[in-house]
Amino acid sequence: MPSLAYIGLGSNLDDPRGHVERAIAELDGLPLTRLTATSRRYASRPVGPQDQPDFINAVARVETRLSPLALLDQLQALEQRHARVRRRHWGPRTLDLDLLLYDDRRLEHPRLRLPHPELAARAFVVVPLHELAPRLELPGFGPVAALPAWQSAGDLRALLPER
Ligand code: ATP
Ligand code: CA
Ligand code: CA
Repeated sequence: MPSLAYIGLGSNLDDPRGHVERAIAELDGLPLTRLTATSRRYASRPVGPQDQPDFINAVARVETRLSPLALLDQLQALEQRHARVRRRHWGPRTLDLDLLLYDDRRLEHPRLRLPHPELAARAFVVVPLHELAPRLELPGFGPVAALPAWQSAGDLRALLPER
């Protein structure tokens, strides 16, 4: 049986919407992996330094036969192909791919924490995740519909689909 994983996408540099749309298509092309659903796209204010453009965010669901770390490797390679330059922590980037959830796995590995530790606090992750899986239970965090991030969900803006 394949595993079910949720991936958070973000971009705020050099045509952010284009990076997100291409990355979604590229997720479907990863080895042993199939894209099964994507949320709407959202615009959000950056986490951390505010002197940078808004982010475009979305969440994708994939079925995969890759292990969690092998999937992370693929996501990081995909970030590199988008010429991601890490200038400073939480600074602007062309593409950020976070592995949010992998089945109901909990993991504390130097390279990979599951669920993603900031998930529950970030409206730009929780709102699109809830769109894809309204009844989802997050290991260690409880129902997606009752996470703290909903308090700031008003700051998110859903975008119209691209033509
Ligand atoms: P944040 O994790 O708070 O969203 P960030 O996305 O800006 O911050 P990065 O610079 O992209 O952080 O990643 C830093 C490190 O986080 C990566 O090298 C990766 O190994 C590690 N990491 C730990 N858990 C995860 C996860 N669930 N998904 C993606 N990366 C993770
Ligand atoms: Ca991130
Ligand atoms: Ca990241």
